Amino acid sequence: MDSVDVIVVGAGVVGLAIAAKLSQKYSSVLVVDKNASFGEETSSRNSEVIHAGIYYPENSLKAKFCVEGKHQLYQYCQQRHIPFQKVGKLLVAHGASEEASLENIQKQAQRNGVDDLCWQSQAQLKISTPALAASAALLSPSTGIIDTHSYMQSLLAQAQNNDAIFVGRTLFISALPNTQGFEVTLNSQGEDITLQCEQLINCAGLHASSVAQAIHTMPSQHIPKIHYCRGHYFSYQGKSPFQQLIYPIPSANGLGIHASLDIGGQLKFGPDTQYIDNIDYQVDPALKAKFFNAIVKYFPGLDAEKLQPDYAGIRPKLQGANDGFKDFAIQNEKTHGIAGLINLFGIDSPGLTSSLAIAEHVEYLT
Ligand SMILES: Cc1cc2nc3c(=O)[nH]c(=O)nc-3n(C[C@H](O)[C@H](O)[C@H](O)COP(=O)(O)OP(=O)(O)OC[C@H]3O[C@@H](n4cnc5c(N)ncnc54)[C@H](O)[C@@H]3O)c2cc1C
Repeated sequence: MDSVDVIVVGAGVVGLAIAAKLSQKYSSVLVVDKNASFGEETSSRNSEVIHAGIYYPENSLKAKFCVEGKHQLYQYCQQRHIPFQKVGKLLVAHGASEEASLENIQKQAQRNGVDDLCWQSQAQLKISTPALAASAALLSPSTGIIDTHSYMQSLLAQAQNNDAIFVGRTLFISALPNTQGFEVTLNSQGEDITLQCEQLINCAGLHASSVAQAIHTMPSQHIPKIHYCRGHYFSYQGKSPFQQLIYPIPSANGLGIHASLDIGGQLKFGPDTQYIDNIDYQVDPALKAKFFNAIVKYFPGLDAEKLQPDYAGIRPKLQGANDGFKDFAIQNEKTHGIAGLINLFGIDSPGLTSSLAIAEHVEYLT
């Protein structure tokens, strides 16, 4: 049987960042993905925002990895010429009660080590962002946008330069722990193959729990249910009236339907949140009314004709629709008792921003 040091299941942004990192430490790293190419699922269906790390509870992995990952990602983009822009974001309030929420958000951000948020008065906003309706806002200067595809391409190139191998159209089928690690069965383009590996990294995103279930002896109590939470986007035709990202006050459900820009300057709105039972990326055009009503609160000049259904992404959430905050879950032997196995569950937002910090953590755990 052929053997490799590491098998990474899933070539999304997190799997690729882990492969780039582990290929510096291990001489043979194999990354497999069931799709033909890398990053065809959640990693290419998101907002492409480099988050500042404002909202997450302090000491959570999301807060820690987002803040660390943001700094690492900006540095990585600069060094490797990945298109990015630190455009900043305005978190907007309407009225006294939302302004009080802004104050609490600013305190939370400070506890997370994000101390650069600055208060913008209505008068300041009228001059800087005339298309915006708000009574006040917080400006987050360290929020940015990134070309995620270029970033993933660069991570893969970095891994391949260190002799890692990526194989698409290759489905993880099962793993049997043994004294040297795992005997792993893959189905590559219709053919079953068996490989030995020392370290097995499960970063299969929406499918991470199914992958864990196919690892013999993996205790079922440590395999969480993954809730699919779809977010839809509507694009806005024509020139953007905003140069920064515009976010409403977040709710228990998510960050709210916000305005973001891609690296080409295209304005889009979303994502909203809709829990679903099956993976399905369709965007119902009838959602336009809901989007219009949410956006018009901060963008009264919104032209409904210019709002077009665009794409959707699905968050692999550990919390259900009525649950509170759930953190990223990254398990090693200490949790599940299987040497050499690392499972990553619930890597929803800010997984893109956190990817390099997550990879560093996984390297530490191996
Ligand atoms: C709507 C939305 C907006 C978001 N916005 C942001 C944002 O602005 N900023 C941010 O930081 N984060 C954002 N995120 C979160 C971010 O996109 C994810 O955290 C990140 O993409 C997760 O990457 P991943 O590699 O873990 O998962 P994925 O990209 O899902 O990759 C998992 C891979 O595993 C493969 N796979 C699954 N099962 C198998 C198997 N059995 N065999 C082989 N391969 C398998 C899949 O094909 C897939 O390619 C957003 C997410 C969503 C849904």
